[in-house]
Amino acid sequence: MERTFIMIKPDGIQRRIMGEVISRIENKGFKILRAKLFKPSKSLIEEHYQEHREKEFFHELIDYISGESVMIMEVEGESAVEVMRLMIGNKDPKLAAPGTIRGDFSNEKTQNVIHGSDSIENANREISLWF
Ligand code: ATP
Ligand code: MG
Repeated sequence: MERTFIMIKPDGIQRRIMGEVISRIENKGFKILRAKLFKPSKSLIEEHYQEHREKEFFHELIDYISGESVMIMEVEGESAVEVMRLMIGNKDPKLAAPGTIRGDFSNEKTQNVIHGSDSIENANREISLWF
């Protein structure tokens, strides 16, 4: 069965929609294999987002997560990577469809509630990195 890495970002924790997000994941039929609520180190966040280190939004992205609590999860189910990305919705607020997590709970470019791995390869990398 396929596995993916999910992180509820600081705005999701602070706005107390963690339960809502977890319910959506469970209601879809996915199984949460491991989970942890904690404050990750800056170096861990930078390593996670290393593909974006040259982007103009990189520092804003790292500052938003640094020093704050996140919830990380290893999620298992049929086509978990692709289906979770569908449920998360587009990162562009103008393209995040209603009914998706971002479409329902965020209208921001950076503070968008949740991360989900974008490929099986990255899912494996991120699960090893965070757990
Ligand atoms: P994530 O990797 O967090 O699941 P994503 O794959 O939909 O999101 P990426 O392109 O990988 O989007 O960007 C990573 C994160 O960086 C986004 O989720 C968002 O928090 C932030 N981000 C992306 N693009 C921008 C931007 N143009 N301006 C500000 N922040 C951005
Ligand atoms: Mg991404």
